[in-house]
Amino acid sequence: MRIFDPHIHMTSRTTDDYEAMRAAGVRAVVEPSFWLGQPRTSAASFLDYFDALLGWEPFRAAQYDIAHHCALALNPKEANDPRCAAVLDELPRYLVKDHVVAVGEIGYDSMTPAEDTALAAQLQLAADHALPALVHTPHRDKLAGLRRTLDVVRESALPPDRVLLDHLNETTVKEAKDGGCWLGFSVYPDTKMDEGRMVEILRMYGPDKVLVNSAADWGRSDPLKTRRVADLMLAEGFTEDDVDLVLWRNPCAFYGLSGRLTLDVTAPGSTHEGNSVLRGGE
Ligand SMILES: [Zn+2]
Repeated sequence: MRIFDPHIHMTSRTTDDYEAMRAAGVRAVVEPSFWLGQPRTSAASFLDYFDALLGWEPFRAAQYDIAHHCALALNPKEANDPRCAAVLDELPRYLVKDHVVAVGEIGYDSMTPAEDTALAAQLQLAADHALPALVHTPHRDKLAGLRRTLDVVRESALPPDRVLLDHLNETTVKEAKDGGCWLGFSVYPDTKMDEGRMVEILRMYGPDKVLVNSAADWGRSDPLKTRRVADLMLAEGFTEDDVDLVLWRNPCAFYGLSGRLTLDVTAPGSTHEGNSVLRGGE
């Protein structure tokens, strides 16, 4: 089985996770930029993070034969912090880099005017750079948030078939699908979507344009949720081809819209900018 986790924050995970993911069939990941839990105090803090997503993290992933790409953006939550807004001016020089396969994650957290501005500006950046966009939908007021997100997408220069709406559930899937977007589902250990509900949604809406991710990060989450969904799909009568479509071909097709997806992992050197994962002990 080959698995592509289209939304996972590997910066917050250990090498044990990489090892377990590879053993479970994960061969490719996309890491969207995100908040750190601890608020950032300046735009410069994003730049070091972006550089890590473009350098150090692919280096770590390659040790486990996993292809690592990223999506870059000002995240929805920190769009509300005026200390962070200047990163929008820095994004264009990052969005031209080879391993950037989308703008993201963008979208709404609390649906504030500052979030409106950041979302619209970054959909435009995606259109300008011929990149698709990963759009997070809010965890509270889900349907209202989804509708407002779809309105902003419709007003943008980015066509809906270049937009992946993430964190969908039973409440929001139909309107997201009717809106012509790609459909993302984050499967968590005890909140939001679980494997059983995910398989039920696949039964009702079919596997076309559906992507399943673990969204694993520094919180309670499980980087093997993609595999657990695949196993349950098979147990519940889906075919191996359905599993391959949802867990591999759909994410390849969506991020392939960037023209930059390279799934062959080149054997990593032993160090990245002089640092190894061995902390000096070769
Ligand atoms: Zn995320």
